[in-house]
Amino acid sequence: MQLIRTISDLRTALKAERSRGKSIGFVPTMGYLHIGHLTLVKNSQQHCDVSVVSIFVNPTQFAPNEDLAQYPRDLPRDLKLLEEQGCDYVFAPDVNEMYPDGSGKTSTYVDAGELSSILMGALRPHHFRGVATVVSKLFNIVQPDKAFFGEKDYQQLAVIKRMVTDLNQPVDVVGVPTVREPDGLACSSRNSLLSAQDRAAAVILPQAMQLAQTLVDQGERSIAALHQAVVDKLQQESRGEIEAVDICDAETLAETAEQLTAAAVLLLTVRFGKTRLIDQHVLRF
Ligand code: AMP
Repeated sequence: MQLIRTISDLRTALKAERSRGKSIGFVPTMGYLHIGHLTLVKNSQQHCDVSVVSIFVNPTQFAPNEDLAQYPRDLPRDLKLLEEQGCDYVFAPDVNEMYPDGSGKTSTYVDAGELSSILMGALRPHHFRGVATVVSKLFNIVQPDKAFFGEKDYQQLAVIKRMVTDLNQPVDVVGVPTVREPDGLACSSRNSLLSAQDRAAAVILPQAMQLAQTLVDQGERSIAALHQAVVDKLQQESRGEIEAVDICDAETLAETAEQLTAAAVLLLTVRFGKTRLIDQHVLRF
């Protein structure tokens, strides 16, 4: 495995791989890796000859009041995990390499429009613009054949798919199902920021999603009833503060009709202390 710090070194290495006819799979991350990230890498290894993982905590997707400084980081540990996983290249640039004027900002942004401003985009106004911009930059640097993203960050995956379509970027974007802890909580780098009590309490998220699916299995089709049941369940846990509960169209993320008619996705955002947890479940019926 090679650790690469600069854009020019990565371009040189990947140009050589491409000239040997190798296909390139790419997994963008912010590091502090867990089994969810490693599952994306496994998917890349199954589908592509060479796998590249980037580790970059991207300043342009954090608002000034958000947890950029607190975001957990441990590059030596990440490298060990990726080495064990058999990853080929790790690209870990510093902020100045990605945003050379030193400010952690750029003049040109990629904005996915409506999809960026609804749901989580309403809570975090510049977040998806920052994500789309850095992923675009990374796509230009890596030029992958396929890129792998978690369904856990459901709206992010939708934004990236839309961006690739709208900008004709020659990358096949692959969504990978959410990997969970044994109690059902989605693996997340942010779980490490939870106190022991909050970590235990956070199991309410998968429980609320499971309840919604059970109600659908029993024939419930009213969006309002499902929404209320999820809110009531989440409120049983006083440590969590509900930020958003949405049931929307799984493809477009538009608001659903009053009755569940097409595949819909349940999106949850719940804060424990300063830590915001998100999760998603596509309701099947
Ligand atoms: P992050 O480092 O949090 O920016 O995540 C990097 C990538 O890993 C994103 O595509 C995430 O959606 C994906 N990811 C994060 N958590 C999980 C998980 N529990 N299961 C599958 N993919 C995940």
